[in-house]
Amino acid sequence: MTEKSSISIFDENYKRIEERIFEAAIKSGRKREDIILLAATKTVPANVINHAIQSGISYIGENRVQEFLSKEAELLDTAHRHFIGHLQSNKAKDIVGRVEMIQSVHSVKLAKIIGEISLKKDIVTDILLEINIGEEENKSGFFKDNVTEAIFEISKIKGICVKGIMSIPPICEKRAQLINNFEELYKLFIDIKAKKIDNINMDYLSMGMSGDFYEAILSGSNIIRLGTALFGQRDYNI
Ligand SMILES: *Cc1c(COP(=O)(O)O)cnc(C)c1O
Repeated sequence: MTEKSSISIFDENYKRIEERIFEAAIKSGRKREDIILLAATKTVPANVINHAIQSGISYIGENRVQEFLSKEAELLDTAHRHFIGHLQSNKAKDIVGRVEMIQSVHSVKLAKIIGEISLKKDIVTDILLEINIGEEENKSGFFKDNVTEAIFEISKIKGICVKGIMSIPPICEKRAQLINNFEELYKLFIDIKAKKIDNINMDYLSMGMSGDFYEAILSGSNIIRLGTALFGQRDYNI
């Protein structure tokens, strides 16, 4: 795909996506500004990401440490940068301090490591806890029934601040199943919020991707992460 066409693909998609987000926000009793549209930028070259930022995208999320580091210097610094991919403990040092939020914290161990590195850098890293709502073996994240216990432990870790939860629910053929997963996540989000645990804020519920962001917003999501819906089909999947 040429760069020019990637840019025109983005322009066409972005307008349509914005209308859908607006519609879903209103339908869920909220305002457009209440929903964060994060562009999932894996495999997208820096110049296309910068075009998206200049067009109004204010949050970007990368999946791979190496890929992020290779684009980092070229990226406009006006967008919030999040890390959304699977993070191995030994790679945490390369990402802490370079992004505003790590959305994909899947274990107490990783939370502790991020905390330790943050303390050394004299910063506090905002994180979301990743929930494996479908309890799928090939995915990481906390199981719904274990997360509360983990949260009490995580709340004591210095150097991090929990801002909410994120999830990549299983691919569902049935719409009802999809919505059921989103509703379970929303319920979990509300339940944790109600506990009012120190250092645990439930500001963000990050769920919804290209195929299901409309339903996710209706179920209460306030961060949607869109890749293909904005940038078109990726040449390869990571
Ligand atoms: C790739 C990715 C997305 C976006 O996926 P699309 O289906 O292309 O919108 C969202 N979240 C995470 C964690 C991703 O890795």
